Amino acid sequence: MKFNIEKCGCCGACISVCPNNSLELTESIIFVNEDNCNDCGRCTIICPLGALLLEVEGNSQKIL
Ligand code: SF4
Ligand code: SF4
Repeated sequence: MKFNIEKCGCCGACISVCPNNSLELTESIIFVNEDNCNDCGRCTIICPLGALLLEVEGNSQKIL
């Protein structure tokens, strides 16, 4: 999971859809707990600003 802080609007939408509680909003920054992330991609779909991307074989891409 790759987080682009410059694109994030701190809406919190990604946090609410994560089934593993892997995302946390702290001081206007999304913290991604990589150890708890299963790369389901839900956060990349819900993010309206494209701030979260899945990394696939070294590349970052948004699902859908
Ligand atoms: S890819 Fe899935 S498990 Fe990982 S942070 Fe996003 S919603 Fe959570
Ligand atoms: S959904 Fe996108 S813009 Fe909203 S807090 Fe998450 S990463 Fe930031």
